[in-house]
Amino acid sequence: MSASPREAGGKPQSGCAVHSAMRAPSRRTVVTALASTLAAPSAMLPRFAHADAAEDERFMRIALEEARRADFPFGAVIVREGREIVRGRNLGRTTNDPTAHGEMIAIRRAIAVNDRAVLVGSTLYTTGEPCAMCMGAILWCHFGRLVFAASIAQLLTRIDQIMITGAELASRTPFAPIEITGGVLAEEAMALFPPRQ
Ligand SMILES: [Zn+2]
Repeated sequence: MSASPREAGGKPQSGCAVHSAMRAPSRRTVVTALASTLAAPSAMLPRFAHADAAEDERFMRIALEEARRADFPFGAVIVREGREIVRGRNLGRTTNDPTAHGEMIAIRRAIAVNDRAVLVGSTLYTTGEPCAMCMGAILWCHFGRLVFAASIAQLLTRIDQIMITGAELASRTPFAPIEITGGVLAEEAMALFPPRQ
């Protein structure tokens, strides 16, 4: 089972280490990585990840700033223990690289100057729910938490997307438990895309 932001409806599953995102109207979703979190005792979850509504919006605004400067309007920020480590934005056109998504750029920049351990348990903020490629990278890097703005379902109304949610991939990755929160400043993120013609 997986839950898209729309389906999740903000109801955390009992027994899961998932925080409610319903403290503010814009935080309307919680996506649970069911298989992994149900299987993992809370002690196994990365210790740096924690949900804080005001902090989530603050870092998402930084990701949105990145998105406004990007080749395609996607931006990302990696945060550890409440501090920004690195930012990334889509550079697909600039680098002639279809894999240069904001999340990938942020991850590459982070490990260019840090040991990869810096990513373990950290939080990645991104203005769009990660695609399958980026979500795979996020899981392989063992991030503790993912926070996104616009969901894949929302993005599909404007652009092409691989139709697999982050929660779906996470639920099939029991070795990498992750907490996922969606819908943080989603309207601001969606405003960066023109309507489909
Ligand atoms: Zn991607």
